[in-house]
Amino acid sequence: MSLLHVREIDLRDWTGGLKETLGVVAVSIEKSWAVELKQSTDWFIEDKTKRTVDALKKNGFDSFHVSTKAAALEKLLQLIPKGSKVGIAGSMTIRQIALDDALRNRGDQVDDIWAKKYKMEEHLAIRKSHFDADVFLTSSNAITEDGKLINIDGLGNRVAAMVFGPRKVFVVAGINKIVKTVDDGIKRVREISAPMNVKRLGGKTPCTEKGCCDVNECQTPDRHCHIITIIEKKPMKTDTTVVLVGENLGY
Ligand code: SF4
Repeated sequence: MSLLHVREIDLRDWTGGLKETLGVVAVSIEKSWAVELKQSTDWFIEDKTKRTVDALKKNGFDSFHVSTKAAALEKLLQLIPKGSKVGIAGSMTIRQIALDDALRNRGDQVDDIWAKKYKMEEHLAIRKSHFDADVFLTSSNAITEDGKLINIDGLGNRVAAMVFGPRKVFVVAGINKIVKTVDDGIKRVREISAPMNVKRLGGKTPCTEKGCCDVNECQTPDRHCHIITIIEKKPMKTDTTVVLVGENLGY
């Protein structure tokens, strides 16, 4: 693909010092590697995203793709009925698109475990309330190109509410979460999500101390990985929509 650059040439030098520009226009054709890089990257992301959305639909999930965080916010605010009781899991992605604040600002009841520093009993009560939410918002640690959701949890409330309880679940994920296989998804969590999450919480585990996961050696209370879930098909009694956003979001 080539890019056309239009360049105006001033002919004063050619005409012995004429004051006015004669307005001759030349067109040069230059190859632009930057344009090619963007086009091929956009194609690659779109192709992978479309494949994943199609596979998610085949597995019974409602699913769609939006290009940006802003588009995700706009669409989700349309889809979540005003006045809903909304539960929000520990998800960077939901905060990055600013959905938590937008729902609060329009007056929804938002049960958000990160809203403030709660006592442990309050924390547990909020987590349990998510099972009875109208809408539960979360991300996924990984999504396979054949439409499966991979998650690893410590407590398990997030993965539990993803499969049973809330009347509606929205899983919002950036394109960085898309992987080829279930094994790639588990690898992704152990190499990317868990180390960053443990570090964020101030924990010490092999992945934060040595830079790589050592499941057998990871016997500390800071261990993040207690429960692995693979959601192969939409849970039978949970209305689930997976929103893929064309940006890198979360861990
Ligand atoms: S098992 Fe332990 S070392 Fe491995 S990713 Fe999880 S927290 Fe890190």
